[in-house]
Amino acid sequence: MAVASRARELRAAGRDIIDLSAGEPDFPTPGLIAESGIAAIRDGHTHYSPAAGLPMLREAIAAELGRQGGQEIDAASVVVTAGAKQALFNACFTLFGPGDRVLVPAPYWTSYPALVHLARAEPVLVHADPERGFKVTVAELERAAGARVHGLILNSPSNPTGAVYTHEELEAIASWAAERDVWLISDEIYTRISYVQERAPGILDLNPALGRRAVVVDGASKIFAMTGWRIGYSYSDPALARRMSALQSQVTSCANTPAQIAAATAYRGGTAVQAAVQQMIGTFRRRRARVMALFDEHLPGVRYVRPDGAFYLFFRADAWAEPGDAAVADSVEVCTRLLERTGVALVPGAAFGSDGFIRLSFAVAEELLVEGVQRLAVSRPRRTDALR
Ligand code: PLP
Repeated sequence: MAVASRARELRAAGRDIIDLSAGEPDFPTPGLIAESGIAAIRDGHTHYSPAAGLPMLREAIAAELGRQGGQEIDAASVVVTAGAKQALFNACFTLFGPGDRVLVPAPYWTSYPALVHLARAEPVLVHADPERGFKVTVAELERAAGARVHGLILNSPSNPTGAVYTHEELEAIASWAAERDVWLISDEIYTRISYVQERAPGILDLNPALGRRAVVVDGASKIFAMTGWRIGYSYSDPALARRMSALQSQVTSCANTPAQIAAATAYRGGTAVQAAVQQMIGTFRRRRARVMALFDEHLPGVRYVRPDGAFYLFFRADAWAEPGDAAVADSVEVCTRLLERTGVALVPGAAFGSDGFIRLSFAVAEELLVEGVQRLAVSRPRRTDALR
């Protein structure tokens, strides 16, 4: 927040700022989806929907999930929410309460510990090995678990690292959670923005028995470039879906109705929608290759996590540390310095629970990536060898 607000001040003062801090696609919502939202308003679909969402959207999402996992999905398992964030909120508030410990692998997406705290439960951070892309293992989870562990929030592909859990890794963690009676909240919002396979593995790819104590969180924000429409969803056991829907009915009533209609067009995924999605993913793929090549060329000593999904590059901050700085670089200090000196806005790893690292978003035009990395290179980083 501090870096973002300083970036705004500098821009207002006339500085040329390259903003590589965005957490959302830079593309407009595909035309067909947007038009269907506009038509929904014109046609008078401007009333409340059922709390769990319009049946046609829940069915469209269930059909999409069924195509992914190759199994029939009951639309009663799907609750449509105001963004994936509300699905996370619903899950945390329904499943956790005072005295419960919830494991959160770090680096984490910023809201997880806050949501667990708001539910009066206790987030327990699990710090994994940067050399493994910060992916946690069952042994690390078991070590951190202790008694009263009630939940785990997993995110693959990860924001901020882009790391993707393999099918086997996910299966091992889901099996551990099932054996331990731990609720697994699986944030799968980036699974379709994947560079190693068509879709990153998710809970629905596993044996259905492993999904019984899981809540899958996903949404339209990233994959359809619809962040401002605020449509997400959860997929869970129908009994839990009913409880989450009951909670939601008291908090926001329902997600925005015209946006739900637009999202139904997106999830039904006609040829034009599919083509638009493929084009966006293709662009992210090119930018990912470009940003890695730029780092390798201009910042050869700076180690980063290889982003196999999402649209972020998570790299070490200590290359920009100065004599007298702490052993683990203060990422807020380094990002502030880089912003002041180079005009490049980035997000400090501290915001994700991993100081010593910095997140760059490649959801921007390639020219900005080139200019941004060149500016970072001008500030002459030190060479570093390991990823920790
Ligand atoms: N989960 C992760 C990992 C995210 O990166 C984001 C947005 O940045 C969200 C959830 C929230 O998504 P939404 O905008 O649909 O609430």
